[in-house]
Amino acid sequence: MMASRCQIPRVSPGALLREESRAGTEVGRRAEEFTRDGRLVPDDVICDLVHSWLDRNGSEFIFDGFPRSLGQARDLDADLQRRGMALDAVILLEAEISVLFERVMGRLVCTACGKNFSKGADVAAGSTDCPACGGSLGRRNDDSPEVLENRLREYAQSTEPLIAYYEERGLLHRVNANRPQDEVFESVFNFLAS
Ligand code: AMP
Repeated sequence: MMASRCQIPRVSPGALLREESRAGTEVGRRAEEFTRDGRLVPDDVICDLVHSWLDRNGSEFIFDGFPRSLGQARDLDADLQRRGMALDAVILLEAEISVLFERVMGRLVCTACGKNFSKGADVAAGSTDCPACGGSLGRRNDDSPEVLENRLREYAQSTEPLIAYYEERGLLHRVNANRPQDEVFESVFNFLAS
């Protein structure tokens, strides 16, 4: 929603990895060993993907799900400095664990265009047609309660320290993400526009 309203390209390493997996590349196969269990993919793989994405794209971007470790954040700082660029803001979307479970269990992803939808809200229960491109909707193989538990453990161990990292740099902005998606979107949008 931010990418389309602001006309800024968005990059999500998770989505890039799923594309690599679908294409059956070496990177995709290596990443699957981690993603299927909800573990973080090693920093070198992720940082290489982001470097080459930045090489191909302009100076404006929205990172989604990146960085997720201190190693990635430090690599990003160094890379942006080399490019004469800097982060404007870091948005922390905060939601209760029960809300995260509910959203993950209701998430549908298009196998053709990769867009995400919410069962019941964006797509009628039982429908498997993508509202954006007509492709077929399915579940992600890491959207199970067990894998989500692992992902939350990884978050606490590797990603949570980034809150202090970006707070110290005056970049962090917290958003209450327990609310419906339109309200969360407006909060993020209004903050970035201010
Ligand atoms: P996501 O699509 O953001 O939910 O990510 C799906 C999975 O891809 C994660 O559970 C990780 O295994 C992997 N992944 C995505 N982004 C990163 C990242 N920045 N660092 C390490 N692994 C990642």
